[in-house]
Amino acid sequence: MGITTIYFLFTLGNNVLLCLSYSEFSRKNEWHFNSQNASSSCSARRHTIPTLSYKKLIETFPLDEIDGNYVRTVKRCVFSESSPTPLKGSLKLAAVSKEALETMLDLDASALLSEDLVLYLGGSKLFPSSVPLAHRYGGHQFGYWAGQLGDGRAHLLGEYTNRKGETWELQLKGSGKTPYSRSGDGRAVVRSSVREFLCSEAMHHLGVPTSRAASLVVSGEPVWRDPFYNGTVKKERGAVVLRLAKSWFRIGSLEILSKSGELDLLRKMLDFVIEEHFASINKDDPDKYVAFFSSVVNETAHMVAQWMAVGFAHGVANTDNFSLLSITIDYGPFGFMEAYNPNFVPNTSDDEGRYSVGAQANVGLFNLEKLLEALHPVLNPNQRSWAKAFLKGYPQIYQRRFHELFTTKLGLKGQEETDDGYLIAFLLKMMEDTAADFTMTFRQLSEVSAQQLRSGTIPMEMWALQDLSRHKFFSEWVNMYLPRLQRAHASDEARQHSMKGVNPRYILRNWMAESAIRKAENDDFSEVRLLQEVLSRPYTKQPRAEELHYAYRPPHWAHGLKVSCSS
Ligand code: AMP
Ligand code: MG
Repeated sequence: MGITTIYFLFTLGNNVLLCLSYSEFSRKNEWHFNSQNASSSCSARRHTIPTLSYKKLIETFPLDEIDGNYVRTVKRCVFSESSPTPLKGSLKLAAVSKEALETMLDLDASALLSEDLVLYLGGSKLFPSSVPLAHRYGGHQFGYWAGQLGDGRAHLLGEYTNRKGETWELQLKGSGKTPYSRSGDGRAVVRSSVREFLCSEAMHHLGVPTSRAASLVVSGEPVWRDPFYNGTVKKERGAVVLRLAKSWFRIGSLEILSKSGELDLLRKMLDFVIEEHFASINKDDPDKYVAFFSSVVNETAHMVAQWMAVGFAHGVANTDNFSLLSITIDYGPFGFMEAYNPNFVPNTSDDEGRYSVGAQANVGLFNLEKLLEALHPVLNPNQRSWAKAFLKGYPQIYQRRFHELFTTKLGLKGQEETDDGYLIAFLLKMMEDTAADFTMTFRQLSEVSAQQLRSGTIPMEMWALQDLSRHKFFSEWVNMYLPRLQRAHASDEARQHSMKGVNPRYILRNWMAESAIRKAENDDFSEVRLLQEVLSRPYTKQPRAEELHYAYRPPHWAHGLKVSCSS
């Protein structure tokens, strides 16, 4: 197999690279609360609960003129007023991201210990000054325009500007029906909420741009689901996650305004997003929409490359799930690739593999094309040509970022572009041939010594590297890799240290999430919290995580685990 053959296996016609403390919140702090008694038995301690502002959004955008929380087609607005429906039965604050609550929402220790916190985090009580809204958006789902979608089970509570001057939008997911619920019940179940809570925080600690999850509240309210769409309906329980992002606007937020010809609102949303979130764009620049588009193209390419660097497959990368701020949002049937395989599809409902891990760069391009279509009516012919020309550069932007990330993962400092590209593509091809574990191959390359690699004495516990080393070209690759490493680092220890800082030892493997979910469904959230703790330091070897084999081969029982869109 020659160099070109290997390289082209990873490229597309258009050059898109294909492949590519247990916290103090311990058990005793799990607050149980009977939501029916909420208002009578609990008074808000206002000084500890953040007061939200809603002014910017409400003053900028017209609200739905029609009142009432019934399902309908909504026109000429960006938000509908809609209040969370309190969950029934007892509420439990199953997990919190103490860091998110403290550093993003300025919650102090007394607030974290207050018994009524669960009511705010679960949607039974409103934060002071909150005006809850449901956002109207549309989207292309699996390649086709799906019309109006919107927040069908989420409520935007308002925004909070913290002591550091950062503004965060607070959103509850699973908090009940809205005008956008279509045939849904407005709820989210425990298993999908655990997955969203854990993965948002894990991605943040991996350094991938993402929405955050501040808390997970679980209720006794029965929610009926057919988890594998095979006719077996199961009683589950409703849960609510408090999610935080600088903005929850999506590509689909602009698409619906453009598709329905609401061009004043389209301009208004663009102006708002640019002014609030794109500080480098001058609001008086006549070409500001092109500047905005090119910035989203750039950041989206970077986000997808970062997904690839941690082996993350979103699972439902529709335009309604692609943020205008290019952060990862709407965690559903996502998955981290284990055995390296560009065709890995985490979502069992995705029969055609549209959202396979290796297709994500192209999916990003498709979604950006849809964004450009949405901007079409507000661009003049010249601006359209510039925007198109910029979009043509997406594959290169993506490829450059992918290359940077993977050279860093391999410890290849300095510029030796052609050879480094070859080293990366060669390695990935061997990983594919040997089904070597993506995460642990890179991690164990960080942990193995140059001497062990050179002499071919890879320790047995380096299981992913053992798998890789069975490839017939492995020693050929090592013979190219080692001299390159030596040129880049003063010592092998320094090389190992820097590589360990970018190659995680722990990711949210499906079996780990599943094990925590099985316990959570029996009301034991200890493993959710343990995973949250472990995944907050993914680059550091941790004794408890090792005992639980979080960096080992997936257990036998986990073979054939499935995740569907049901949530
Ligand atoms: P998702 O696949 O989670 O991004 O959701 C796609 C669309 O379906 C969004 O408009 C959601 O609000 C809506 N949706 C998903 N599940 C439900 C549900 N249980 N109740 C109401 N709307 C839902
Ligand atoms: Mg969504």
